[in-house]
Amino acid sequence: MKIAMVAECASPLTELGGEPASGRTVAVAAVAAALTRAGHHVTVYTRRQDPHTRTEVPAREGYRVVHVPAGPPRPLPRDQVLPFLGEFGTFLRRHWSLRRPDVVHAHFWMSGLAAELAARSHELPVVVSFHGLGTVKRRFHGLADPSPRPRIRFERLIATRAAQVLATCTDEVNELSRMGIPRFRIAVVPGGVDPALFTPEGPGDRGRPQRVLTVGRLVRRKGFDLAVRTLAELPGTELLIAGGAVGDELDDGETRRLRRLATDYGVTERLRLLGPIAHTAMPPLYRASDVVLCTPWYEPFGLVPLEAMACGRPVVATAVGGMLDTVVDGVTGRLVAPPEPATLARAVRMLLDDAQLRARWGAAGRQRVLDTFTWDRVAAATLRAYEHAIATQGGSLAAAPIAAGAR
Ligand code: UDP
Repeated sequence: MKIAMVAECASPLTELGGEPASGRTVAVAAVAAALTRAGHHVTVYTRRQDPHTRTEVPAREGYRVVHVPAGPPRPLPRDQVLPFLGEFGTFLRRHWSLRRPDVVHAHFWMSGLAAELAARSHELPVVVSFHGLGTVKRRFHGLADPSPRPRIRFERLIATRAAQVLATCTDEVNELSRMGIPRFRIAVVPGGVDPALFTPEGPGDRGRPQRVLTVGRLVRRKGFDLAVRTLAELPGTELLIAGGAVGDELDDGETRRLRRLATDYGVTERLRLLGPIAHTAMPPLYRASDVVLCTPWYEPFGLVPLEAMACGRPVVATAVGGMLDTVVDGVTGRLVAPPEPATLARAVRMLLDDAQLRARWGAAGRQRVLDTFTWDRVAAATLRAYEHAIATQGGSLAAAPIAAGAR
């Protein structure tokens, strides 16, 4: 199958370069690679962010990356890309008249917009993965939400037009249903993990104080402040925070805020802010921790808990979003609601005090990943959605033979 993936601000080459990643870049790179391994022809379209890159670059994994000239050739904050999507869409439309794909898969709403614009004139089926919805973001951030104002309206429009909408978790299915998207056009396709890279065995430093790890882009909604307040309830424990501003995101002062909080709570000595870590250096970090703590306000999916599970580490997480589907309470970790430091600390303490329980839940997490969340399984589910989208599109074209014949 010829697959056009549109990921305007998630170049898979960033991930392949071993740089720190975001969930979306990791997912685009991994699914493109897995589909290529399965014998499909994948082209990923991403916005050009560097004037010196060639337009078309082959990825080591065998798929192609096309750098679309749209807007200034430098990284832009995610929320400033909207004005350049018309240009992006025009490029796609021209490209697809020369190289027609069988299906278009757009990642994030802005790619969805450009893809819909371009695909319509070629009557191509569009599959869209939002990787987080504007309605949820608005609910949690309120007036501080930096998303362009029309985001929610555009998302509804894109979802209504798409042949298939891929939700990353059950929570997102419910959200899409509330937006009026019929259930039969929604498929659940979760994120995944590479179980050969994220393994329980391998390098990772041992023989140190009890260590809790938390990982993610350093943005407020990841709830690192909650992790720092939890640390205050865990004497004798060290908290590592891995992450920083990634790629096109700007540090909004979160590092400073966390340092201040650590001082207020008297935990400066036990908090280590590691900054952004290369994605390939993540496995040893998971292995060098006893418990992985995930405390976001909301989470469209959350690759971090899966990576921790693949490394055989138990996860303590707030009971939100994708983690409701990935972490099994009392089997692979704990899901905590409401998200309060004392409750989170109790769950972490129980694990820190019991090496056997850590080992048991860690092993169960690893098994759960192998059973359900490998990228090959994710790619197979994605492919089923593509096939469904193509079949549906075929149906709607067949239903309009006069219009088709009139062209
Ligand atoms: N990550 C990384 N280096 C860092 C912090 C995070 O490579 O310093 C990676 C992490 O391993 C995971 C991804 O970034 O693969 C974060 O994905 P997640 O879905 O948890 O969060 P998102 O970025 O989508 O909000």
